[in-house]
Amino acid sequence: MIRGMYRADFHTHTPLCNHADGEPEAFVRRALALGLSEYGIADHAPMPGEPFDDWRMKQSELPAYLDWIERARRAANGTGLIIRCGLECDWLPGIEPWIEELRRLHDWDYLIGSVHYLAPGWAFDDPNFKGMYLTGSLAGDWEKYWELYAEMAASGLFDVYGHPDLIRKWGTTPEGDWTSMARGALRAMAASGGVMEINTAGFHTAGAEQYPCLPLLHEARALGVPIMINSDAHTPAALSRDYERAVGAALAAGYDSLTLPGRGGHRTFPLV
Ligand code: ZN
Ligand code: ZN
Ligand code: FE
Ligand code: FE
Repeated sequence: MIRGMYRADFHTHTPLCNHADGEPEAFVRRALALGLSEYGIADHAPMPGEPFDDWRMKQSELPAYLDWIERARRAANGTGLIIRCGLECDWLPGIEPWIEELRRLHDWDYLIGSVHYLAPGWAFDDPNFKGMYLTGSLAGDWEKYWELYAEMAASGLFDVYGHPDLIRKWGTTPEGDWTSMARGALRAMAASGGVMEINTAGFHTAGAEQYPCLPLLHEARALGVPIMINSDAHTPAALSRDYERAVGAALAAGYDSLTLPGRGGHRTFPLV
């Protein structure tokens, strides 16, 4: 670990989403062992029209979620570790009123916006959809993905942008200059004032690189999009995983600072 670095992880899950493991006390122990200054919990947010899918908490489980966060807070009490609370929200066209409602349900520190759905019922990152294309082609689905991502960023409803090029998850990219497809989303992120995450879960997929990949990170830097580093941990062992690799990518793209969102506004820290 690099000494003096202010290390935080704001994209982590809880067992309430049905595909994560670990007690809050175990996450806190891991956070302390790694020297994290802040541990943010942002599980998959409920969606309207339940059951929406089987990988998120129900609306009725929000109190249990807040209890889980409270347990983390108790475990961290007196250690100096700061617990933050948020949600990872799913973007779909027309979802704006629901996001606004979620925002009012609790005094969240931040909301993460993510694109997992190319259309209702079509979560492209679900292994069941691997090799299938909503539009009939890989390039068509990529265009669709980036269009949705740009809409999400332009909505101004989110504090953090989750795994920006999750569409690379299966390790396949369309032919030609696909990075130009992401330009609208990158510009929308830059205009919104939100923070883009570098998501280290990308190292552990077929894409084999952090989200977003280095070419997009370079463009984001040129556009002035602030960044933070998150793990998307679904277990305590994955908390803040590969943080140093992500720092290396950020440095390679020309970044020298990290930005953490919060209720009092953004805070900026030197990257190293
Ligand atoms: Zn998940
Ligand atoms: Zn809270
Ligand atoms: Fe996600
Ligand atoms: Fe996540």
